[in-house]
Amino acid sequence: MNPTKHEMDPILKDFFDREVARAPKHHSLRGPSCPSMTRQAEAFSSGWAVTEWEHAAGCDYCCKMTVLQLENEHPKWPVLLQHLTLFGQQAPMQAHLETCWSCKLLMRSPIVNLVRFWIRTKLTTAQIGEKLANLVIGSVMPGERHLIPAVPQGKFANENQPPFYREFKGPNLEVYLREGERPNRPLIVRVDNPNGKLAGRTVECELIYGDGDPTRTSIKLKPNAELGATGQTTLGRYATLAASRDCWHILVYPADEACSPQP
Ligand SMILES: [Zn+2]
Ligand SMILES: [Zn+2]
Repeated sequence: MNPTKHEMDPILKDFFDREVARAPKHHSLRGPSCPSMTRQAEAFSSGWAVTEWEHAAGCDYCCKMTVLQLENEHPKWPVLLQHLTLFGQQAPMQAHLETCWSCKLLMRSPIVNLVRFWIRTKLTTAQIGEKLANLVIGSVMPGERHLIPAVPQGKFANENQPPFYREFKGPNLEVYLREGERPNRPLIVRVDNPNGKLAGRTVECELIYGDGDPTRTSIKLKPNAELGATGQTTLGRYATLAASRDCWHILVYPADEACSPQP
């Protein structure tokens, strides 16, 4: 009988630890300003510090180490996005993108490419950090059915129980996706900004799936006593969007972030 994944993990970890201990201390690509192995591992799971971006974005060794870890497991969304934007044009990341459908989809996002451009060229790391704080990202399996009772009162006008429901939360924006009512059963996107700071601003929603361009829509956030600022729109028929698609990525961000010059 083959070992289960659960049984394999400690074995692989053991093997990895032994190999790391045996490996030469200085890889041929490793430069004097590369962070330590420990810091590399931390940066993989919790992201690069803004002061490290400039080095990481241009370093083959740091990219290679990150891609090695990506082959095993993806970190949480904001961190994965950071790795993709930093390393998107380097050879080891290109090789990963050839085989990883999840990262491949993300790299088709205009906002991901814009962040990559920001990091490589013009904005300060503090400005980029602020913009990333406004970005919400999540992945959805359209076939999954989640019942609505998880939705707090007032999040949607109609409290009936639609069969598809997901929510994603960032520091400043919350995104709720659900399948609407008969006869058309649209995919409804609702965006809340609980602190109300984005009231009056427009957010862009991107749904990325399949082989085509991302499906995009804009939502104007209006002040709301209960929800801070909020807005809602539809992205087409749920059934049409979900048909034969294995996964979606949804990204939501303030529209004026996207007004910067394109790369
Ligand atoms: Zn480096
Ligand atoms: Zn990947």
